[in-house]
Amino acid sequence: MLNKDQFADNHFIRTIIEEDLKSGKHEAIQTRFPPEPNGYLHIGHAKSICLNFGLAYVYDGQCNLRFDDTNPEKENQEYVDSIKEDVRWLGFEWSGEPRYASDYFDQLFDYAIGLIKESKAYVDDLTPEEMREYRGTLTEPGKNSPYRDRSVEENLDLFYKMRDGAFPDGSKTLRLKIDMASGNINMRDPVIYRIRRAHHHNTGDKWCIYPMYDYTHALSDAIENITHSLCTLEFESHRPLYDWVVENTPVTGKPRQYEFSRLELLYSITSKRKLNQLVSEGHVSGWDDPRMPTISGMRRRGYTPEGLRLFAKRVGISKSENIVDMSVLEGAVREELENSAPRMMAVLNPLKVTLTNYDAARAESRTAPYHPNREEMGSRELPISSTLYIEADDFSENPPKGFKRLTPGGEVRLRHSYVMKCDEVVKDADGNIVELKCSLDYDTLGKNPEGRKVKGVIHWLSAEHAVPVTVRLYDRLFTVERPDAVRGEDGEYLPFTDFLNPESVKEITAYAEPAAKNLPAESRWQFERLGYFVTDRKDHRPEQPVFNRTVTLKDSWQPK
Ligand code: ATP
Ligand code: MG
Repeated sequence: MLNKDQFADNHFIRTIIEEDLKSGKHEAIQTRFPPEPNGYLHIGHAKSICLNFGLAYVYDGQCNLRFDDTNPEKENQEYVDSIKEDVRWLGFEWSGEPRYASDYFDQLFDYAIGLIKESKAYVDDLTPEEMREYRGTLTEPGKNSPYRDRSVEENLDLFYKMRDGAFPDGSKTLRLKIDMASGNINMRDPVIYRIRRAHHHNTGDKWCIYPMYDYTHALSDAIENITHSLCTLEFESHRPLYDWVVENTPVTGKPRQYEFSRLELLYSITSKRKLNQLVSEGHVSGWDDPRMPTISGMRRRGYTPEGLRLFAKRVGISKSENIVDMSVLEGAVREELENSAPRMMAVLNPLKVTLTNYDAARAESRTAPYHPNREEMGSRELPISSTLYIEADDFSENPPKGFKRLTPGGEVRLRHSYVMKCDEVVKDADGNIVELKCSLDYDTLGKNPEGRKVKGVIHWLSAEHAVPVTVRLYDRLFTVERPDAVRGEDGEYLPFTDFLNPESVKEITAYAEPAAKNLPAESRWQFERLGYFVTDRKDHRPEQPVFNRTVTLKDSWQPK
C-alpha cells in the first residue's frame, strides 16, 4: 500500500511544485515516466518511477506512462510488456492508457511541416561525417551547412519525398535552423528527422523517417500537458532545445523540464546497453536473472516493492552525485523483510545429530510463531525426532575464542526447543565429522537449565520431517565497486565483464521445515539465522521447492 510519507521529502522539485500549486500556475500536476522500450527497467528507473509516480500521488496529480519509441531497431513488444509489468509491480498505476511517442508521429510530422514553412527547419544533405565536421567543438563555433538556405518550397518538397521513401537511409536529414555558433552544441541546428527503413513495434512499416529524441520528447510532453518533465542531469544542456521546440510549435502545453542526478549503484551497473550485453553474451540467465539490477531480476531475487520504494526514498532527489553503495539497497530490502517475512528454519549444510536419550513419550514438539512480533501471522508446529540436522558450522571441534555454539562436551539451545549437549563426535575413515551424538536436557523446555548458563542458540530440523529444497545462494554480480570504470595499465577501460563475480550463484540441496512444502511462487521467508529467501518465480513447484537467497541477515559482504 502506498502512503504519502513513503516518498523522498523536501527536495527541490517538491519545492518547485508546491510553489506552482500555491501561485496557481498549475491547478494540478501532470508528470510522466518516459522509458525507451529497448531493454528491461533497472534500479535507476525505479528511482525515476518513484519520483514521477510518487509526486503525482503525493500532490493528487496524474502520471503518464509513455514509451519513448523513436529507435525502432532496438525496441520491441517484450520490453514494452516488461516495463508495464514492472511499474505495476512497484505499486503504481499510470493515468489512462499507456502512451507511445509513436502515437504522435503524425502530429510531429505536421509540426515539422509548420517549422519548414516558417523557415525554422531545412533538409540537409550533409553526410554524418560532414555534419560532425561542420558542427564545431566546445571551443569553436560550427559552420552553416551549404544546404541551410534552401527555399521553403524546396524543403517542403524534399521533406515530403523523404517521408515517401524517395531517398536512401541516412542520405538526408531534417534540421532545425537555430544557431551554428551557439555556445551550446545542442542548439547548432539539431537534426530532428532521419531516414531509417526499420519496422516499428507500433507503427509497423508506415514510416521510413523517424523523429529524434529531443524533438519528440519535448512535443510529447507538450501534447500530454505535462507540467513538470523530470529527467536526469545529462539532459540539462538539452533544456534550451526543449524550450525552443515547445515555443516554436503550436502546442498548447507548456511543460518545464527539471533535472536531477542519476542513481549509480556500486557493485552494479545501471545502463541498459551493458545489461543487454550481460544477457546476450550469456553471463546471466536472462534480464530477470536474480543477480541483475533490473526490476524483474530484483523481484525474482525476492526484493519487495516496499523495499525498493524505501530505497528510493533514502537515496533522495538532488542535483549532486548520487552514487550509492549496494549495502544501502540491501539494507532497505532487509529492513522491510524483517517486518513482513515469516520465519522458518532451514539447514543449508546439514550435520546429522543422533539424540541418544530421545524418548518419544517425553519429547515435546513445540509450536513457534511465524513472526516474533506479529501474532496475526500465526504459528506452526516444530516436530522433533531422534535424528536432527544442524548447520555444520554451528559445531566446532576446536572452537575459536568466543564461539558460542556447539562444541564437544558443550551445550547449546535448539531454537524454540530444548538445550542439547554434545557427547560424542563421530568421524569417517578420513577424519571428517559425519555425525554428533547428543542428549537433550528434558528440563529446559521454555526455561533456563538448572545451575548453568547456555548462551548459544542454533537452528535445527527433525531429519524425518525435513523437506529437501533447492536453494540458490546468490551473491553480488561484480567484485569491484565500479565494474565499468576500471582502467588497465595502458589507461584504457577494461571490459566490465572482467569483474564478474565467479561465485555469484551456487545451487545446493538443503532442508527446511515442513512449512516449506506447498508454498506458492514468490513466497518470502526468513530462514532463521541465515537470511531472507523467496520461492523462485519461475522454477519453484509447490512439491519441489526452489528458494532464492534474497539477502543475508547481516551486512557481512566482503570483496573476494
Ligand atoms: P539507460 O542508460 O539505462 O539506457 P536511459 O536514460 O537511456 O537509461 P530511458 O528508458 O530513457 O533509459 O529512461 C527512462 C527514464 O528513467 C528517464 O527519465 C531517465 O532519466 C530515467 N533514468 C534512467 N536511468 C536512471 C538512473 N540511473 N537514475 C535515475 N533515473 C534514471
Ligand atoms: Mg534514454
